[in-house]
Amino acid sequence: LLEVSGLNKSFGENEVLRSIDLRVGAGQVLALIGPSGSGKTTVLRCLNGLEQPDAGTVAFSGGPAVTFGAKTSKREKESLRTRSAMVFQGYNLFPHKTVLQNVIEGPVQVQKRSKADATQRAERLLERVGLAEKRDNYPHELSGGQQQRVGIVRALAQEPSLLLFDEPTSALDPELVGDVLTVIKELAEEGWTMVLVTHELAFAREVADTVVFMDDGVVVEQGPAEDVLRAPAHERTQRFVHRLL
Ligand code: ATP
Repeated sequence: LLEVSGLNKSFGENEVLRSIDLRVGAGQVLALIGPSGSGKTTVLRCLNGLEQPDAGTVAFSGGPAVTFGAKTSKREKESLRTRSAMVFQGYNLFPHKTVLQNVIEGPVQVQKRSKADATQRAERLLERVGLAEKRDNYPHELSGGQQQRVGIVRALAQEPSLLLFDEPTSALDPELVGDVLTVIKELAEEGWTMVLVTHELAFAREVADTVVFMDDGVVVEQGPAEDVLRAPAHERTQRFVHRLL
């Protein structure tokens, strides 16, 4: 189970998230949709401890719930970071490391696995996404779609309880989107708990159990994917969905 309640975040005067509540079952996919600037990326960054919310509670499996406020300890924030893994819009691979080095960095440095063990596991995961023979290449030698599949493998190698995707296909040429979506869909079917920020509403309808529509820092509507995308209750959701689907 992933449960977020009362999440607030301001940057200076700008209240970016206001009392965000989210809920999705273990092994399910939550898709976060909404216009640019509505706060979707900030939600993801709060879930994995890259951003510190001003208030609210984040709970998911693998460790204790973390309640944010003045007293939140560094250890609690670290715990979110080590239990979740993020796949970024711009891949964020280390340019001067090979594919393999990118993938084993987290397992070796953070999880203290042996290099041999991390390498063996990385090779299996690379094989899975069809990139075994690219292990010694550098990111700039790969297509965007291949780089993003490495980004996904890097996240999986950390064995997170929660996988976070921030518009994972929006930087890709259209012909490269399909391969990445296929990998994400397989992960969903395997039962990973995921939060996916996406503009691909048709894809959200296919993979998500729950869809959350955000606008201007609040959750406007949240429910089963079919309901929110096919028959949204709120006018703001209707306008957004009809423009994109
Ligand atoms: P997009 O779809 O364009 O990626 P989004 O829904 O993910 O948008 P966020 O990136 O979460 O939106 O941004 C929400 C708001 O928070 C925006 O007004 C943005 O300018 C502001 N914001 C985000 N990060 C910071 C930061 N580090 N410092 C100041 N303001 C920020």
